[in-house]
Amino acid sequence: LALEEVNFYDLIVEIFEDLKFQENAELIKKVIKIGHKQEFKTDRRRVYIILSNLISNAIKYSNVAQVTPLIEIQIEINDHKVNIHIQDNGIGIEDKDLQKIFHMFYRATDQQEGTGLGLYIVKESVRKLQGKIEVTSEMGKGTSFSITIPEIEAKTEGKLMMAI
Ligand code: ATP
Ligand code: MG
Repeated sequence: LALEEVNFYDLIVEIFEDLKFQENAELIKKVIKIGHKQEFKTDRRRVYIILSNLISNAIKYSNVAQVTPLIEIQIEINDHKVNIHIQDNGIGIEDKDLQKIFHMFYRATDQQEGTGLGLYIVKESVRKLQGKIEVTSEMGKGTSFSITIPEIEAKTEGKLMMAI
């Protein structure tokens, strides 16, 4: 882990910029809600991997034929943790697939190309930050991911760096 103060608003703007050539990216309406406190000490590279995979999925599994695609991102930061919600109005995920989507190579649809690795990498990255990730979804309505990443205290940082 490499800890630094990360500005989450800047990070999200950077990710959308990096994904702008993805198919349909230009059609997406983006809403970013963040409070007064925008910085949190964490591993920027790992958070980039987590959020870019989730945002890239939200673009890829959008439902452009039915609705104007919308991605709403909400960030709440306090001294001890950051909560992130990423909500889309895309194709949705069936209940039977909801836990399996985090498994290596699992894909719930073959309408789009993919390897099925993105959410596995997301889950592992969240785990390495000692965080939690949850998903809820409704077919044809959209999907919502919630992530909590706790503060990593300096005294455990050294041990974690040895373990990872
Ligand atoms: P890649 O490895 O290129 O990311 P992928 O997108 O298929 O491939 P994951 O990101 O791991 O793989 O996602 C697994 C599956 O979960 C997807 O194939 C898709 O069926 C489903 N999925 C993921 N995110 C969403 C979403 N936002 N809306 C609807 N389905 C989703
Ligand atoms: Mg993916």
